[in-house]
Amino acid sequence: MINWNNISSVFLDMDGTLLDLHFDNHFWREHVPMRYAQYKGLDIDAARDHLFPLFQSVEGTMEWYCVDYWSQQLGLDIAELKREVDHLISVHPHVTDFLSAARKSGKRLVLVTNAHSKSLDLKMQSTQLAGYFDAIICAHDIGLPKEEPTFWDKLQMTEAFDKSNTLLVDDSLPVLRSAKQYGIAHLLAVYKPDTQAPIKDVEEFNAINHFKDIMP
Ligand SMILES: [Mg+2]
Repeated sequence: MINWNNISSVFLDMDGTLLDLHFDNHFWREHVPMRYAQYKGLDIDAARDHLFPLFQSVEGTMEWYCVDYWSQQLGLDIAELKREVDHLISVHPHVTDFLSAARKSGKRLVLVTNAHSKSLDLKMQSTQLAGYFDAIICAHDIGLPKEEPTFWDKLQMTEAFDKSNTLLVDDSLPVLRSAKQYGIAHLLAVYKPDTQAPIKDVEEFNAINHFKDIMP
């Protein structure tokens, strides 16, 4: 699926790609509605009916990924709520072996995430993955989400890369499409971002089951 001779930079998404998206899905679909219901004196279904349209209305924007935005909107300490369920944060199988092998083969490894720095810090603390990367790029520092094709152009200023020999692995199809539009040559989706959910339809993209599939 990948000819490693043609790859010099490897851009990796965090949530759903390196880490099990089950944490995030559980957090937004179960934990936040439960805490919001308690806070507002609602039942959980009423909380969901209120929250889910709010979530949908900003999907794919910087706000959606912003911990401070949701703390302000909902009146809850979102970073603290994430810590309450941090035992659910887990690294997908074969990820650390893949990262070690890619480093050994001299590839530049870059974590490229839309996650807010507070989520990123919590996840790096829980998983100890930070040391594997040459750089960690947070979309909030770029000022655009990865869904915007201009994100990749702006990224060049902090992380110069040759789009013809860069590989991006990301579980988000809108992100893969924006990278494709920018011209990143090697793109892979993920069949099982959330280990508790069915296999994802990856549409026009090639995809991995596990990082074992593309071990350098
Ligand atoms: Mg993701």
